[in-house]
Amino acid sequence: MDITRRLALTGAAAMAVSPLFSARSANAAVAPVGKQAPGFYRYKIGDIEATVVSDGAVTFPLSDGFVLNAKKDKVNAALEKAFLPRDKVTVQFAPLVINTGGKLVVIDPGNGAAANATSKGAVGQFASNLAAAGINPKDVDMVVISHFHSDHVDGLIDADARPVFTNAEVLVPAVEWKFWMDDGEMSRAPAGRMQQLFKSNRRVFDTGLKKKVTPYEWGKELAPGLLPIETAGHTPGHTSYVLSSGSDKVFIQSDVTNNPDLFVTNPGWHVNFDQDGAKAESTRRRVYDMLIVEKLKVQGFHYPFPALGHIEKDGRGYRLVPAHWSPTI
Ligand SMILES: [Zn+2]
Repeated sequence: MDITRRLALTGAAAMAVSPLFSARSANAAVAPVGKQAPGFYRYKIGDIEATVVSDGAVTFPLSDGFVLNAKKDKVNAALEKAFLPRDKVTVQFAPLVINTGGKLVVIDPGNGAAANATSKGAVGQFASNLAAAGINPKDVDMVVISHFHSDHVDGLIDADARPVFTNAEVLVPAVEWKFWMDDGEMSRAPAGRMQQLFKSNRRVFDTGLKKKVTPYEWGKELAPGLLPIETAGHTPGHTSYVLSSGSDKVFIQSDVTNNPDLFVTNPGWHVNFDQDGAKAESTRRRVYDMLIVEKLKVQGFHYPFPALGHIEKDGRGYRLVPAHWSPTI
């Protein structure tokens, strides 16, 4: 039987007459689980244990202005090329926990409890997935923030606006801290998203977290093996990291690109979340060319879970090659 005819017969009627299928269905009393497995994944960089902890994903309609310098048709074509549905965009969130030199460090704790409630559980899953991974927020020594967008900082506070990581120091990029806490910058911010972000950041850090904040400089280790790198453009103080132990390394890119099927493949596209699109693009090209030369592993906050892979050149853009899932670490 040819494959087309076989596919045509794989309907409900064909299934029902299969003796194998009807024998099985007689015992099918177990209800489907209807829920995804907890999202966490471990790997090692030398002696450092890294745990990727999913914060969930959000799907929203593709608007004309989502990519500022590409028509919706072109964006839809990129979605279709990646076997993704047209007219909508899914953005995943993949915070990282590292255990290095006796320090337990969270990098970007995700969207937080308030967003978990408003999204009906779609995002803000970091807390429950962290618990599933056997990690207690009270044991976290340090929370490191890459930049001040809500999907990266709001997870610092719980549903009652209290700090989640009660024993942790909070390390933030000095440039980012200066920008978002500056009253002049806030007063000049355009209405809408930018003003909202200023308010939201003040709300997070006015909970008593401010006194736990230490601004950090690029190029100086934050914890053993964790080196912050300037990758500005997405925001003024946007930061990536090189995590290294022995000869092993991973580049933690944060938001150098958003959804890779759109923005790794089209590095010239400016997502509307980029505060300075041109600068974000030149950063992206500089970082990705470096990753290719160095054959460096990359961990991406908005890559599909577990958000680890390599970048290679592909035509005029790049391509993300996801790492193989490993049953051991
Ligand atoms: Zn982000």
